Amino acid sequence: MPESESCQRGSEEAVPLYDRLIPREEGHPMSDQFEIVDTGDARGRGLRSKVPFRKGERVARLSGVLTNHTTIDTIQIIPTLHLHDPWFCRFLLHGCNPNLAIDVTVMEAMATRDIRPGDYLTIDYRATEDVIEFQFPCHCGAENCCRWMRGRLEEPNEAGRAFLER
Ligand SMILES: [Zn+2]
Repeated sequence: MPESESCQRGSEEAVPLYDRLIPREEGHPMSDQFEIVDTGDARGRGLRSKVPFRKGERVARLSGVLTNHTTIDTIQIIPTLHLHDPWFCRFLLHGCNPNLAIDVTVMEAMATRDIRPGDYLTIDYRATEDVIEFQFPCHCGAENCCRWMRGRLEEPNEAGRAFLER
């Protein structure tokens, strides 16, 4: 785990974000590195980093439970296999120009650019998901924003087509 100034000093012990049923591994996200916060907008709750990461650095090792279904809590590994992770990945917000990339072959999240304390962690859902459970308008603010989020193999649904025609 990277050293950081914001490490708690004695009062509050860092705990894994993953449930205790998940076998512990070095690199799993810890409570002194990340916090789950309400964005106050339609995105709901997101994950904020409490510590800095350098571009290219591993941000977390991932874990969860394998399932065959896509939900809002899953990351696609292959089309028929998904990682159910309601503890960490669940709270990664979508960004069309994200600061994280997930490598499902090694189950790691890497920083695609420098991350500062207080930054929300974002991934591009289209990087892993063929199909998402709920399509939604994207207001990520990136220059390349797709405006309407859907899986990489999906066309916009009816609401999406209406939204994009506006
Ligand atoms: Zn966007």
